[in-house]
Amino acid sequence: MAQDYYNLLGISKSASAEEIKAAFRKLAHQHHPDKPGGNAEKFKEINAAYQVLGDPEKRAKYDQFGSAAFENGGMGGNPFGGGGYDFSGFQQGGVDLGDIFGEMFGFGGGRHKRGADVRVDVDLTLKDAAFGVEREFSLNRTLPCERCGSVGAEPGSKMKECAECSGKGTKTHTQRTILGNIQTKTMCGACQGEGEIPEKKCTTCAGAGLEKARKTLTVEIPAGVDDGATLRLRGEGEAVKGGERGDLHIRVHVEPDRRFERDGDTLFSSEKIGFTQAALGTKLDVDTLDGTVELTIPPGTQAGTQFRLRGKGIGGRRGRGDQIVTVEVVTPTKLSKEQRKMLEDLNLRE
Ligand SMILES: [Zn+2]
Ligand SMILES: [Zn+2]
Repeated sequence: MAQDYYNLLGISKSASAEEIKAAFRKLAHQHHPDKPGGNAEKFKEINAAYQVLGDPEKRAKYDQFGSAAFENGGMGGNPFGGGGYDFSGFQQGGVDLGDIFGEMFGFGGGRHKRGADVRVDVDLTLKDAAFGVEREFSLNRTLPCERCGSVGAEPGSKMKECAECSGKGTKTHTQRTILGNIQTKTMCGACQGEGEIPEKKCTTCAGAGLEKARKTLTVEIPAGVDDGATLRLRGEGEAVKGGERGDLHIRVHVEPDRRFERDGDTLFSSEKIGFTQAALGTKLDVDTLDGTVELTIPPGTQAGTQFRLRGKGIGGRRGRGDQIVTVEVVTPTKLSKEQRKMLEDLNLRE
């Protein structure tokens, strides 16, 4: 019969994700088969309930269609009477039930298992971004169990065919509905779709093949990354048994540097000079990411003139870009009597 998952977990239909998790934890603890007074059947039930209610997408489908959509054992009796759930939703628009079920069980279209992606952020200075930098990330991820090599078997223990599914990894169910018989395939829960189970389970991971572990990962951040970019490291996300690992996404934040404006691999900066310097020429100490360099301003330099410092910009695959220095000529605003007199005598015109 259809079970009410909310009742099973002892929570209301409006329970928050945290409440659902807390209720599941408490009950799982209470009924765990390894514990005195534990109850494997009950444990299985609450686990099934949590698999659905703990996943926002599945929960929404459950709220709409009811638990029969998720149960392995078929519905029995009149599917439209059980549990007070209305299946009319399945009829509308000729929805293909096989697809819906396949999607619900994550089993449709031959999709393979893949671990979740992991996302982290990294803050870089402009210099880090320009030259590239090595960074360490301390990540708490689900990783393949080291003891059993993710197989789930105690080292030395053999694998045997799963009796539940005769080694197929799936179970086929036939449901009678007013649309006719519908066959659905679900993953075998006993072997997690593997078709075989170890004779003795791994003592570290209890057969799950996975372990949660905090590990430090050193990542070489390449020169040239820009603010807002995401670096993807394939296979550095979470592990899943019998499938490929997810990816690690590193979102890059580059702190602005007040001295420079960046455009791709080019840096822009500006320097102020007086008009005597502009007229006669001078040497300037200019800030670059590599430290101070001397820039020669030739005599007769106009305001707004740009000077290119080759190879002082942001690095990348094709080497470093340039830094462009724009010269501003500052007109004096406060003149002494003497200065004023001298300028009047000079009477510089265009
Ligand atoms: Zn293990
Ligand atoms: Zn099986």
